[in-house]
Amino acid sequence: MSDSGQVAGSGAKPAPKSKYDYSKGPAPLNINLTWCKACNICIALCPTQVFEPDRDGKPVLARANDCIQCAICWQHCPDFAITSNYK
Ligand code: SF4
Ligand code: SF4
Repeated sequence: MSDSGQVAGSGAKPAPKSKYDYSKGPAPLNINLTWCKACNICIALCPTQVFEPDRDGKPVLARANDCIQCAICWQHCPDFAITSNYK
């Protein structure tokens, strides 16, 4: 029932907050859906759960405002399908 964003229990860290304001600029990331093979690595590794899979299993920026530009997704994408608009 909490909306604090924190996970209950000892040792659980809250997800980091984004310092980026995407409301005045482009989306945090570009995803080349032609190159993407729906491996879901980016979805699994994103620390702030920015992505949700679409019906083909390819990532959608479901929570774009939570992207902290940590680079994990584009550094781990085997098909170089993700690029940042801010880095
Ligand atoms: S840059 Fe980091 S926070 Fe942003 S979508 Fe990729 S893994 Fe998630
Ligand atoms: S890591 Fe790359 S290839 Fe895999 S689902 Fe994400 S964008 Fe697609």
